[in-house]
Amino acid sequence: MSSSEGVSEVRCGSPEWRLFHERVGRYFEKSEAGDASGTCAICGVDLVGAVKGSSGPTCPPVRSAGSKRGKIEKGERIVFDPAVAARTGKSALTNVGCVVLIEPDRCSVATNVVPSRPLPADMTVSPVEPGSTGRFLAELGRRPPKAPFLLIEFDNKIPPLVLSQSPTRAAWCGGSAVATVDLTAIPRVAALAERLGPKLFATLASLKDRLASAGLNEADGKVLADLRTQGVITPDDLDLVPGRSSRLFSIVDKATAEAVVAQV
Ligand SMILES: [Zn+2]
Repeated sequence: MSSSEGVSEVRCGSPEWRLFHERVGRYFEKSEAGDASGTCAICGVDLVGAVKGSSGPTCPPVRSAGSKRGKIEKGERIVFDPAVAARTGKSALTNVGCVVLIEPDRCSVATNVVPSRPLPADMTVSPVEPGSTGRFLAELGRRPPKAPFLLIEFDNKIPPLVLSQSPTRAAWCGGSAVATVDLTAIPRVAALAERLGPKLFATLASLKDRLASAGLNEADGKVLADLRTQGVITPDDLDLVPGRSSRLFSIVDKATAEAVVAQV
């Protein structure tokens, strides 16, 4: 990867990545010893005896997240079975759909990667399946995590990780930049989304974005006036609806849409 992609923003050896490796990553990592040495493909640190990952040799904490492994079959429980030979495959913890929440006394992981060692008692693992991400996101609002916690929604990349000190200002890791989200607002925003329906919820969210930047155009003003006249929305609703470009919008949008999928 070239430096223009901002790869140096990911610090493989950071306390957050070491925490990820200690609590989650090492239970899924490849156990084969590697012989590659050179420079970490992600952070550029010189390595000796590194295991080569798909993008080249990397620091150990990140290696466990990105290494390609075998996955569970549909309906199979996610447990380590020493009697079964390690599977090979192309699944990684960093795959879309994998979500990780590490709290001081427990952690939950959604993944389809087969564990490479017995899982600890404080870890709850569930498969990635239709609706699983939405349920996880909705649950986050119902039961805000204990701080400090690490919250990651993987997106096929090695993201920068930041520890959260409060659920009202949670660091949402997963994309190339860390977003700040008020997790305690999820239930209220989800109730609003459900009442408005996905289309109107998205319309208002786009309108909220414009309100915060360039201001409302004539068409926006008419839409808003009509909705208010018809009693569809209140001024409180407009305060509550998150901007379309915000992480809170995408969380609630996904949680609402996938809850429907899960019920089918
Ligand atoms: Zn590195």
